[in-house]
Amino acid sequence: MICAKCEQPMVKGYLPALRAPVIWLPEDVKPPILPIYLPKGGIKISETTWKKERKESYYCHECNIVVINLPPLNKRVQTKGMF
Ligand SMILES: [Zn+2]
Repeated sequence: MICAKCEQPMVKGYLPALRAPVIWLPEDVKPPILPIYLPKGGIKISETTWKKERKESYYCHECNIVVINLPPLNKRVQTKGMF
């Protein structure tokens, strides 16, 4: 993958989801007490809970950023509830 900012090749790697799913939260939202819940406004990045998963991602040394492909929209955004 080529970095969208500097157009240099990115290093392929992964984000590990070891015992909890990898999620993204807006800065004003607290993380869930139990890792099985996705807070409102959160985005589910990895697919599973309690199973080891590697989420493919790319790192740019020049820009110091990580880029990931998210799951399909209908599988990553929940308004409340469990994964
Ligand atoms: Zn870059």
